[in-house]
Amino acid sequence: MSELTARIEENLANVRRQIAEAAARSGRSAADIKLVAVSKYVGIEAAAALLDAGCQDLGESRPQELWRKGAALQGRGVNWHLIGHLQRNKVRRTLPWLTMLHACDSLPLLEEIDRIATETGIVVAGLLEVNISGDVTKHGFVPHAMPKVVEAVASFPSVRILGLMGMSSLEGDLDDARRDFERLRLLRDQLRNNSPPSVSLDELSMGMSDDFTVAIEEGATLVRVGSALFEGIVE
Ligand SMILES: *Cc1c(COP(=O)(O)O)cnc(C)c1O
Repeated sequence: MSELTARIEENLANVRRQIAEAAARSGRSAADIKLVAVSKYVGIEAAAALLDAGCQDLGESRPQELWRKGAALQGRGVNWHLIGHLQRNKVRRTLPWLTMLHACDSLPLLEEIDRIATETGIVVAGLLEVNISGDVTKHGFVPHAMPKVVEAVASFPSVRILGLMGMSSLEGDLDDARRDFERLRLLRDQLRNNSPPSVSLDELSMGMSDDFTVAIEEGATLVRVGSALFEGIVE
């Protein structure tokens, strides 16, 4: 086994153990939390090592990089997650790769996705990104717009909304992160009370390397972890 693979296996085991512990603390099953390994910092070799180590769900934040790694790892059964902003002119080329689009952040984008997915005969699984921390640099819908957004996406035949995605404030500490995640969960609970049957809000994509254990305690079903998986690795 290469040193790279050994290191990634060790880091992955460490992250999975922390996921299991956070799940146990909050009375949840670790099986209900999916780890999306964010491969954006590393090349093809390290991404392939993640697959070898048994992690099939990979996340990228830039569409071009997802296409590149997707092509290089074609046939390896990767479940690709796009976790960053998707420009409308890249929708057509990106959709065929995706297992899930975490960053549905505007209605014009969702309309374009629906149009192209309908034309291509596919259904796209997506999460509505909410700007919970209020950081001006972040994408996402403002929380008070969400009831209207949910109503609008309910009529899109080729977009299947499965939940919400959010990020904690860049500035804050872990307590602030917990408040941000709690806010997203409460917003989800509120929206779910009135959501139409075609929209499901069961998934919560929240938590990164620095705060994924807190996110799990607050109900995350998908955690997006990058740097913690690549500690000690220089490519
Ligand atoms: C980069 C990125 C992550 C992973 O960040 P780490 O802190 O390295 O775990 C998660 N989510 C999004 C949206 C990202 O852009």
